[in-house]
Amino acid sequence: MNNNLLNFGAGALALLLSPLAVAQFGSGPAELELIELRDDMYVISNPAVPGLVTALITDEGVLLVDNKFEIDHDNIMAQLRSVTDQPVQYVINTHYHGDHSGGNAKLQAMDAIVFASDEARARMEATDQPGLPNVTVSDTATIHIGGKTVEIHPVGPAHTNGDVVVLFPDHGVLASGDIFANGEGTSAQLVDHAGGGSAKEWPKAVEAALELEFETVVPGHGVISTREDLEAYLERSKRFSALMSELVSQGKSRAEIEAVVREDFDWEDFHVQMALDGLIEEFR
Ligand SMILES: [Zn+2]
Repeated sequence: MNNNLLNFGAGALALLLSPLAVAQFGSGPAELELIELRDDMYVISNPAVPGLVTALITDEGVLLVDNKFEIDHDNIMAQLRSVTDQPVQYVINTHYHGDHSGGNAKLQAMDAIVFASDEARARMEATDQPGLPNVTVSDTATIHIGGKTVEIHPVGPAHTNGDVVVLFPDHGVLASGDIFANGEGTSAQLVDHAGGGSAKEWPKAVEAALELEFETVVPGHGVISTREDLEAYLERSKRFSALMSELVSQGKSRAEIEAVVREDFDWEDFHVQMALDGLIEEFR
């Protein structure tokens, strides 16, 4: 299996070897589905473990937000080719994880220009990921393509230290990356502490996203959602931080805290392995 499949800091190797990771991320390409969101906007989803790619189609090329693993590249292109012959002009990585940026190198080989935050690029470089972003942003940036505008807003740290959200103001759509996941089996708030993520800071990132104007949200994983869903997630992320703070200060054991996150916050084995120790450490 490719070591770049899941670049997720120090836990990557252990995760790659676990049966759960294989079940979650697969050893082959995911089966994809193309969802029409607007006349000129599509979401490419894999129903089994829904990671979402947003595609804006214009007569000056295609803009993609995230691009799954490298192994998914051909299928993503096949889905795009079913609706447009336009080349992929721009790609935005919402953060450094391999399930959002794994296709970068193949897209760059097709002359696409990849954008990410300064922090995300640094993290990709540190973890030897191929396809380093061509352009980094430290503040709001606007891409103009085919008469439409696309805004990149850094909001991290939350899921990682370099999270950005992408606003399509002409469409009222926000592609949130993994600061928001919403759907069965995907809605756990997964903090990548090794990647600079923070549960304490997470609600501020969601608040920053909610300052923008949109009605529809394409989460990093899950199902297409509404602004109200993101507002509910903000309250949940606040509740999550407050409860963690309380449990840790009460000196609860790892097992007790694990039971709570599993019961009340949808954590599964993967999240516990990946993030529980870092979470307890953050609130200690
Ligand atoms: Zn992620």
